[in-house]
Amino acid sequence: MEKITSLCKRRGFIFQTSEIYGGVEALWDYGPLGALLKNNIKQEWLKSFVQARDDIALIDTPVIMHPKTWEASGHLKNFTDPLIECKHCHARFRADHMKEGNFVGQGRAKEKNQCVQCGEKEFTETKQFNLMFKTFLGPIEDESHIAYLRPETAQAMFEDFAQVLETMRFKIPFGIAQIGHSFRNEITTGNFIFRSREFEQAEIEYFVKPGEDERAFDEWVESWEKFITGLGVKKENLRRYEHKKENLSHYSKRTIDIEYKFPFGWSELTGIANRTNYDLSQHSKFSGKALVYFDEEKKEKYTPYVIEPSLGIDRLVLAILIDAYEEIKGGRTETTKSTKGEEVVLKICKKISPIKVAILPLVKNKPDLVNKAKEVYKLIKNKFYCQYDEVGSIGRRYRRQDEIGTPYCVTVDFETLEKEDVTVRDRDTMKQDRIKINNLIEFLSGKLDL
Ligand code: ATP
Repeated sequence: MEKITSLCKRRGFIFQTSEIYGGVEALWDYGPLGALLKNNIKQEWLKSFVQARDDIALIDTPVIMHPKTWEASGHLKNFTDPLIECKHCHARFRADHMKEGNFVGQGRAKEKNQCVQCGEKEFTETKQFNLMFKTFLGPIEDESHIAYLRPETAQAMFEDFAQVLETMRFKIPFGIAQIGHSFRNEITTGNFIFRSREFEQAEIEYFVKPGEDERAFDEWVESWEKFITGLGVKKENLRRYEHKKENLSHYSKRTIDIEYKFPFGWSELTGIANRTNYDLSQHSKFSGKALVYFDEEKKEKYTPYVIEPSLGIDRLVLAILIDAYEEIKGGRTETTKSTKGEEVVLKICKKISPIKVAILPLVKNKPDLVNKAKEVYKLIKNKFYCQYDEVGSIGRRYRRQDEIGTPYCVTVDFETLEKEDVTVRDRDTMKQDRIKINNLIEFLSGKLDL
């Protein structure tokens, strides 16, 4: 983890929020490369689950919703974690993490039931702590103006169910998707972006006829996992964890987490839940509006069941970075072997890598060569995210690009001036192809699958 966090900071993937003031616990800024990577992941998600399908529509809703939402959904009552406090140093922990001896975010306890902060063993009684952030709507700060920052995007999909159904003229089964920020006042934070207090979720509420929910659930587990491996995450680093009946959330009939083998242990990357008709029924009850489906052909009316695949984008960013990170002791080539220590290659799936192509003039002190390289840069820049780099030896520049996962380096050399061709180096195979500048965009498009 230290290597990943250091790379992220050094190369502009992820920084601490408000670092100039000492940072804020469990809040993170995505820097120039991180923002591109995250955006590429979201675009792939949209392509797979919205663009490529006829049965799923996208919505985009505010993080503050009507306060009744959280009464109806059960979050006001049930969205709590068990909190305990060390009687000696007053550090606070999640009691369930304590029991498992697994302090995600605080480092691992050497022994169970021992404070990781001070080593003492005396704790207060467990209290239930609600994880929703409170705020006020408008200028009056009293009970009647309390609002909450959403802890999940899902509730908007239930509240908009009837409107989406009608405007899209959907038939069941159909889904509503959303990507957006969610907020949880987590008790124990840490492990970098794994558990933060503001994070991004990509969720789908997929409405099905009761009785067809179990099959739909299995299908969603499959396609969710396929999406993650499709972004390059190795299958052997994923496993499924089925929640025991007694530990299911208040709305769930069945939940499977897809866990990733993080450096701090197997932990939830994403979850798929069968939320039954709980949410639609609750919102119907609290709003007085019917949230039902009428099957025209069979002339039957029912409250659909819903399958919810829910993905934390930040956890996926982290898993992708960890999975892609490779260290090569002593370097991979003659040009890099001369350097001390390791060479890092970030083998990020090419379609989501932040920078697709680097343009490198072989040397920087020959104006003809530099001008030609800048010409190539301008040409490619219109099509792909590119970096132009002329600083340092060519081997060093390759290494800089390998470290941020750039799939292709285009080198402009003396032959380019005569033959109008360039060398294209592949990050993973290090194979070099000589390609005519005229064919460069076509060649790269094919390789990058864009
Ligand atoms: P955990 O058990 O780790 O607290 P959860 O079961 O409460 O997670 P869900 O409510 O199922 O999480 O949320 C769906 C997804 O949102 C999770 O699979 C995860 O990817 C992401 N997520 C939840 N909480 C956080 C957080 N604090 N920081 C980053 N991502 C989160």
